Amino acid sequence: MNRIETDYLVIGSGAAGLAFADTLLDETDARIAIIDRHGKPGGHWNDAYSFVTLHQPSAFYGVNSMALGSRRKDVIGPNKGMDELASGPEIAAYYDQLMNQKLLPSGRVAYHPMCNHLGDNAFESVLSGARTQVHVRKKVVDATYHSPAVPSTHAPRFRVADGVRLLPPNALPQLGVSRQSKAARRFVILGAGKTAMDACVWLLNAGAEPDAIAWVMPRDSWLVNRVTTQPAPEFFDQSIGGQADQMEAFAKATSTADLFARLEACGALLRIHSDQTPTMFHLATITPGEIDLLRKIGNVIRKGRVQAIEADHLVLDGGREPMPTDTLYIDCTASAVEPRPLQPIFQRDKLLLQLVRLPQPAFSAALVAYVEAHYGDDEEKNRLCGTVPFPHTLDDYLRSMAANLRNQFQWSQDKTLRQWIRDSRLDGFGRLMSSIDPQDTHKLATVDRLRKNAVAAMANLPRLLAAASR
Ligand SMILES: Cc1cc2nc3c(=O)[nH]c(=O)nc-3n(C[C@H](O)[C@H](O)[C@H](O)COP(=O)(O)OP(=O)(O)OC[C@H]3O[C@@H](n4cnc5c(N)ncnc54)[C@H](O)[C@@H]3O)c2cc1C
Repeated sequence: MNRIETDYLVIGSGAAGLAFADTLLDETDARIAIIDRHGKPGGHWNDAYSFVTLHQPSAFYGVNSMALGSRRKDVIGPNKGMDELASGPEIAAYYDQLMNQKLLPSGRVAYHPMCNHLGDNAFESVLSGARTQVHVRKKVVDATYHSPAVPSTHAPRFRVADGVRLLPPNALPQLGVSRQSKAARRFVILGAGKTAMDACVWLLNAGAEPDAIAWVMPRDSWLVNRVTTQPAPEFFDQSIGGQADQMEAFAKATSTADLFARLEACGALLRIHSDQTPTMFHLATITPGEIDLLRKIGNVIRKGRVQAIEADHLVLDGGREPMPTDTLYIDCTASAVEPRPLQPIFQRDKLLLQLVRLPQPAFSAALVAYVEAHYGDDEEKNRLCGTVPFPHTLDDYLRSMAANLRNQFQWSQDKTLRQWIRDSRLDGFGRLMSSIDPQDTHKLATVDRLRKNAVAAMANLPRLLAAASR
């Protein structure tokens, strides 16, 4: 058994673990050991399909100290006019660069890829089986709690008959060159989340006929309109004004259904099929242009989840669906974020990274590192870093927003933390707010409207939550 010492042992080198390590390195003199079973930093981005991109602008994803992307606007495609979205390979390269150009050269970070955490501060090399025991002087940081399940590494939860062709979306761009390409003319997309939407958009853009695609959609989903997430000044009305509108919806809504109707009416949320009432909200983010493309797919199968794929039919919760035998099934059923019970983030000698702002795992991890570096006991730290649940159902969103607003209020009361947030590149709208010209009465009035509506939203949320629990 090898033995090493460190101040912090970070388990997981995905977006959360690296955003935490980056800020902790800048704010303290600590030594940090990072372990991960992947061969490269970047977590699930290493396993993603090649046409994946961020949901959100690159401008505020990654780590605090290093820009991702070059703040270009897309000039083609459905994201035209909006901030660029980094692709999976770009994100993986970014984290590689962070590791090799900042973390390791600092001399205070040790990185142990291809190693499984065994518990009790020990890890084992996947390649050699060598075991290492870590003496942790300060804390163990679990950066795996909200690690998403992605198609290429998850196991489908339904039966698949022999001979059925079921592939992850990763295989789609290789269809022309792989043995799987034989007669791939009919496609069934399984799943209704963002991965499924990405796969449909990719197929349509790559030349598949809309009629050749069937889409198994167990539930419909509300989607965030990407135009409301833009950090550029020309989008001020959509982003900051959009936040003010959303807070107004929370302040005036009388029920969850009324809230979502208001959020759609003010342009914050979109849905693919306006004749369906969504029951799911995972904060997947999309543009109106992508919605137009997705609406071209007419064959949407709403019979619940897949139970089995047989040679010539699908078995779904709601019955059978005949399918030609040469159908290619694309598995987009990995659940991304699994619901897990919330726990305090600061737990004496352990830190369990979770969201403190929705839906921002990178910002959340960096803020937790800042609080770890500069604040007192666990009680104070947990007060500043209340956990924000990731929503799944529509009612969940009320709980998420209540926790989000509570944190936002706590941060606004603390001058130092407020300033750190404002200066952080991971705070999407910080620069937009701080760069307002004092003569710009329209923008100042918008910010004032946002503040007043946020207070009114906080006051109305307990009523909405009570109505939801009846
Ligand atoms: C397609 C897609 C697009 C997304 N787009 C956005 C976006 O635009 N903006 C946004 O904020 N979020 C986005 N997300 C959410 C995403 O969950 C986060 O951005 C983030 O990448 C999650 O990082 P993580 O560190 O929590 O998890 P991961 O990236 O999964 O990292 C966890 C790491 O822990 C390692 N690990 C786990 N267990 C062990 C163990 N026992 N021993 C050793 N290592 C272990 C894993 O190997 C992994 O590398 C997206 C998610 C997906 C799937």
